Amino acid sequence: MRSVPHFIRGERFEGSGDLAVCNPATGEVCAKAPIADADLVDDVVTAARETLLTWRDSTLSQRTNILFTFRQLLVAHATELAALVTEEHGKTTADARGELARGLENVEYACGLMEHLKGAFTSQVADGVDVHSFREPVGVVAAITPFNFPVMVPLWMTANALASGNVVILKPSERDPSAAVLLGELLSAAGLPAGVFNVIHGNATTVQALLEHQGVDAVSFVGSTPVARHVFQTGTAAGKRVQALGGAKNHMVVLADADLDVAADAAINAGFGSAGERCMAVSVVVAVGDVADPLIAKITDRLDKLVVGPGNDPASDFGPVITRESRDRIIQYVTNAPADGIEVVRDGTAMATQPGFFVGPCLLDGVRPGTRAYDDEIFGPVLGVARVANYAQAVAMVNANQYGNGVAIFTRDGNVARQFTREVSVGMIGINVPIPVPVASYSFGGWKNSLFGHSHIYGPEGFAFYTRAKVVTTRWPQPSESQIDLGFPTTR
Ligand code: NAD
Repeated sequence: MRSVPHFIRGERFEGSGDLAVCNPATGEVCAKAPIADADLVDDVVTAARETLLTWRDSTLSQRTNILFTFRQLLVAHATELAALVTEEHGKTTADARGELARGLENVEYACGLMEHLKGAFTSQVADGVDVHSFREPVGVVAAITPFNFPVMVPLWMTANALASGNVVILKPSERDPSAAVLLGELLSAAGLPAGVFNVIHGNATTVQALLEHQGVDAVSFVGSTPVARHVFQTGTAAGKRVQALGGAKNHMVVLADADLDVAADAAINAGFGSAGERCMAVSVVVAVGDVADPLIAKITDRLDKLVVGPGNDPASDFGPVITRESRDRIIQYVTNAPADGIEVVRDGTAMATQPGFFVGPCLLDGVRPGTRAYDDEIFGPVLGVARVANYAQAVAMVNANQYGNGVAIFTRDGNVARQFTREVSVGMIGINVPIPVPVASYSFGGWKNSLFGHSHIYGPEGFAFYTRAKVVTTRWPQPSESQIDLGFPTTR
C-alpha cells in the first residue's frame, strides 16, 4: 500500500491518521494519507510565519527564476503527474494532461511578476509632494482545494501566491492527494526555500483548524457551495481575507439560428468530458423554440458513440466518477427523474454493476426549475435538456438559478450574443464556446452561490488578493529650506 506523506519544511513527513485513497476505476484502495490534526496545523502555521520573515524579502528575480525552473520541471514530470491524477481521480490521461496545461499557464503568468507587482508613482500631487504605491505579500495563505482538479486548482493559487512573496499551506482534497506532494517536491527542486510551500492532508477538521488559526492571513478555497459558504463565513469571522469558489449549474443556451452540429459536439464535450466533474461542465442545455428535437437527436447520435472506461485506457472518452457514494447519488437523479415528469432519453446507470465507480452517459429531456435534476448540482455524466419558448425565457431561467459560474450561448447573431453577455448574471460567458474558462491573464470567478467574497481567482485579481497595498506620500525639504548649496537661486 502506497502511503502519501505530508510535505512540510521541504521534507516528506509521514504523520498519523488513515485516509483511504481509492482508485475509482477499480474501486480499490490504492493509497493511505495521514490527517493533520490541530496540533500539526499549529506547528506548520508557526513554522510558516517564521519562513515568511525571510521569503517576503526574497528578490523578485529570485522568485522569477524559481517559477521559470518550476515550469520546466512540471513539463518534465507531466507523465508522472498525469498518471497520479488518473489513478486517484479517474479522469483520462488526456484530461489529466489538459489540466496540467491549464495549470502551467498560471505558472507562466506568475513568471511575469515583475510586471504584476509594479506599483504606481504620481509626481507633484501638491507642491513638492509625490505619492507612490507598492504591494506587500498578505502573509500565510491556506489553499484548500477540491478533488476534481488536483493539479490545476492548486496551481491557480500557488503560482501567484508564491510570486507575491507569501508562504503557502496547501490542503488538497483527501480523495486525490498525491499530486500535491509532487508539486511540493518540484518546487523544492526548482530552488524554493524549505517551508515556503507546505502540503498537509486532512478533512473538515484540518480545514477548521486552518480557518481558526490566527497565524493564517488569507484563505483561497475551491469546492462545493455549502463548504465554500462555511469557509467564507468562518474565515472572515476570524479576520482573514477569504475567496471561496463554490459549485455550479452551467447552462448552454442554443438559439434557432445556431449550427446544431457544432452545438451538439459542444454539449457532448462540455457535458460528459471528465465524467461531468468539472465546475465549468455544461449540465443544462436550454433549447430555444423548435431546437430541442433536432438537437437531442444529434446529441444522442454522438452520445451513443462515447466509450466509458478506465482513464488509463486511450480508448476511453471519460472515466469513472470519484467515489461509490458519488456514483450512487448521481444514479438517484436519473432513476427519480420520471417522477418529476422528465424523460430519460439515455440511461447509463446500468454501468454501476461493473467494478469501479462508473456511470455511463445519461440524457434527460424536460428538466426545469423545481425538479431535483435541475435544481441540484449533479456533478456527473448527466446532461439535462430544458425547453423554453424564446430567448427571454432562456435568460430568465439562467438568471433565476442560484449559481452563476459559467454560461454559454450558441448563435450566429452577434447582436443577440452581445445582448446576452450584458443581461446574464453569470461570471464567465462563452459565445459558441461551451467551457469559457478564462486564460491565466484574466481572472476566474462566478457570481451568486458560485463565489463567496469579492475576489476572483488567479490573473490580476489573484495578485491583488495575495497582496496588500501601501501608499507613501513624500515631501522633502523645499530648496528654500535646504542646507545644501545647490549653486542656483532657491526660489522658483
Ligand atoms: P468539497 O467541498 O467536498 O471539498 C473541497 C475541500 O473542502 C476539500 O479539500 C475537503 O477536504 C474540504 N472540506 C470538505 N468538507 C468540509 C467541511 N465540512 N468543512 C471544511 N472543509 C471541508 O468539494 P469536492 O467534492 O472536492 O469538489 C467538487 C465541488 O467543487 C463541486 O461542487 C464543484 O462545482 C466545485 N468546484 C468549483 C470550482 C470553481 O472554480 N467554482 C472549481 C472546481 C470545483
